[in-house]
Amino acid sequence: MVAKGDMVYAWTNDAGIADKAECGGAVTGLWKFALENKIVDAVFTVKKGVDLYDAVPTLITDPADLEKTAGSLHCGTLLLPKLIKKYLDGAKDKKIGVTVKGCDAMAMYELAKRKQINMDNILMIGVNCGGSVNPGVAREMIEKKYGVDPNDVHKEEIDKGQFIIEYEGGHKGITVDELEEEGYGRRTNCRRCKAKVPRQADLAAGNWGVIGDKAGKATFVEVCSEKGAELLNAAQKAGVMNVQAAEPKGIAIRGKIEGAMLKLGDKWRAKDFGNLGTGKERLDKILKETSRCIKCYQCIDQCPICYCVECSTKKPELVAPGVLPVPFMFHLIRFAHIADSCVNCGQCEEICPMEIPNSLFMHAQQVELEDLFGYKPGADMSLPLLALVDEKSERARLGKTGSDQIYLNVFTPADKA
Ligand SMILES: Cc1cc2nc3c(=O)[nH]c(=O)nc-3n(C[C@H](O)[C@H](O)[C@H](O)COP(=O)(O)OP(=O)(O)OC[C@H]3O[C@@H](n4cnc5c(N)ncnc54)[C@H](O)[C@@H]3O)c2cc1C
Ligand code: SF4
Ligand code: SF4
Ligand code: SF4
Repeated sequence: MVAKGDMVYAWTNDAGIADKAECGGAVTGLWKFALENKIVDAVFTVKKGVDLYDAVPTLITDPADLEKTAGSLHCGTLLLPKLIKKYLDGAKDKKIGVTVKGCDAMAMYELAKRKQINMDNILMIGVNCGGSVNPGVAREMIEKKYGVDPNDVHKEEIDKGQFIIEYEGGHKGITVDELEEEGYGRRTNCRRCKAKVPRQADLAAGNWGVIGDKAGKATFVEVCSEKGAELLNAAQKAGVMNVQAAEPKGIAIRGKIEGAMLKLGDKWRAKDFGNLGTGKERLDKILKETSRCIKCYQCIDQCPICYCVECSTKKPELVAPGVLPVPFMFHLIRFAHIADSCVNCGQCEEICPMEIPNSLFMHAQQVELEDLFGYKPGADMSLPLLALVDEKSERARLGKTGSDQIYLNVFTPADKA
């Protein structure tokens, strides 16, 4: 029996799933069990499309189809929760199991807070995430850096700091550091990401920390909620899932890797935000980049924080219609509405036809707002800043300035000024 907080090795008894799974097939095995036993009505996850660069969101209702979803797709840069809002009625009256990366888990909470998703009907199995690679970038990188035809690659993985490909006639690995120095590798938001183990999900599954004879054969699972414990216990009891306590040495190794990844995330934040410059230089940079915007509204459509029926950017009194380059107000409206809650999922940047570094601009603001107000997006159901104004903290904030108005000592408190 497992309980919330436990860390275990888990592996499936289903030979078909075990064969295709990334590690022990715990994720797919648990979904199959949940669907067969009507714990969920459907599983929403990702499967391989035409090739391994093509990650396709898929809704599974027949347990036999789950096998197709086993395995990790590192070019799967997509975000699932907004699709649940848009196309699955926000899980209003269907119980949906979802495989989530850290950014998906954070987005799920932000949408749930805004009442766009019914969290009571959501079961989340999280996968640890070291990062994902844009499919176009992956293809170019494999051709230029590996000297391999991207169409010949049949497996890719990120392991021990290397991006490894297997192809007809061999395999090759190059360190992610080297690739990223040359502008390849993980998406830039992934480099800055610190959501490595999605503990806001019901279970967090990964390969870090699986050592000894289970290495490569079991999935490391951290039990993060009662719902997660129930699912794992029921599957074990039914004899479809093997569960064994994780090796203490494995737990320590996993902790060390996670710690190193968090440090790396901080390093990239310092570098990327530093490159934006300060003061007028930063403003000029943002103005110049955003002036390429063609108002396709895709950044708004994909953002998990944007939920309005009609966006203020479409109001003629705020953003004059038919004017290009777009008035800066368009982007200011996004900054004002989203920056406190941005989960750095990178969708707004990846989708932008004009290659504007939207998530970089938003994330740079979010990190400072988090320092200032202590609001951590996507971690739990705490309400966003402007939805929860509390007298005590308002008084404390004013007190900290050592003044009777919001004018001075806001960014460096009076006692440190
Ligand atoms: C992009 C990515 C990066 C990862 N990086 C790490 C890491 O650095 N360290 C670590 O310990 N583990 C990492 N993992 C998790 C690991 O690869 C396995 O998914 C996990 O150990 C579960 O193994 P399993 O055999 O139980 O899963 P499986 O039974 O093989 O199931 C995998 C599940 O993940 C889903 N999936 C596949 N690709 C995606 C995607 N792009 N987005 C959302 N869901 C997806 C599948 O649909 C399936 O539900 C990563 C996973 C992904 C997707
Ligand atoms: S933003 Fe974080 S959790 Fe999401 S794909 Fe990138 S590294 Fe993974
Ligand atoms: S602003 Fe961009 S990076 Fe931030 S949550 Fe929205 S889509 Fe994701
Ligand atoms: S996706 Fe890019 S071009 Fe489209 S509205 Fe957003 S910033 Fe402008």
